[in-house]
Amino acid sequence: PSGSEPATKIVINLERLQQLPADKVGPLARYAAAIQSQRGDYNGKVLSIRAEDLRSLAIIYDKTPGELTDQLIDWGVLPPEARPHRVD
Ligand code: C2E
Ligand code: C2E
Ligand code: C2E
Repeated sequence: PSGSEPATKIVINLERLQQLPADKVGPLARYAAAIQSQRGDYNGKVLSIRAEDLRSLAIIYDKTPGELTDQLIDWGVLPPEARPHRVD
């Protein structure tokens, strides 16, 4: 839905991400792997990423950051609490 707002605190569930088919989550999985590599952060069950990264990923998925937030919650990659309170 176009009225959705982007997540403000983005903590990706890496275990859930691994369970999803690559044709859906491939770009996100590669992005997360690149961040883990840059940080040397390989041991986590979750990965905190920048709000800026959500904007980049939204372009890759051809969605608004709010739409991508909803998609990630639907996939179980973000917890439902990641959706900010709606003002409508
Ligand atoms: P939190 O932000 O609620 O994170 C809870 C736990 O999730 C962290 O426990 C860690 O086990 C995991 N986690 C979250 N993001 C990542 C990530 O990007 N990579 C990995 N490997 N694990 C992640 P931890 O490390 O014991 O931290 C406890 C709390 O300490 C955090 O709660 C946060 O409040 C604070 N903290 C830790 N590191 C940072 C940081 O770099 N910046 C800030 N502002 N707070 C931090
Ligand atoms: P950088 O952007 O020059 O950041 C250098 C260091 O500053 C980081 O080393 C980290 O210790 C700290 N830092 C910068 N921004 C933040 C922040 O928002 N929160 C926290 N807790 N620390 C921050 P680190 O972690 O070894 O990362 C090395 C490089 O890897 C970064 O250099 C950046 O180029 C890239 N990188 C790491 N994580 C991310 C990410 O989540 N998104 C993006 N786009 N790049 C990342
Ligand atoms: P955090 O460490 O709790 O940082 C929260 C917010 O404070 C960041 O949101 C950013 O707006 C600001 N901030 C913190 N450190 C820096 C810094 O060194 N430089 C600048 N310009 N701003 C900073 P943001 O960017 O949405 O990041 C969200 C979370 O993603 C961070 O929470 C941290 O857990 C993780 N993260 C982001 N970038 C890095 C990084 O380069 N390395 C590591 N290890 N974690 C990062």
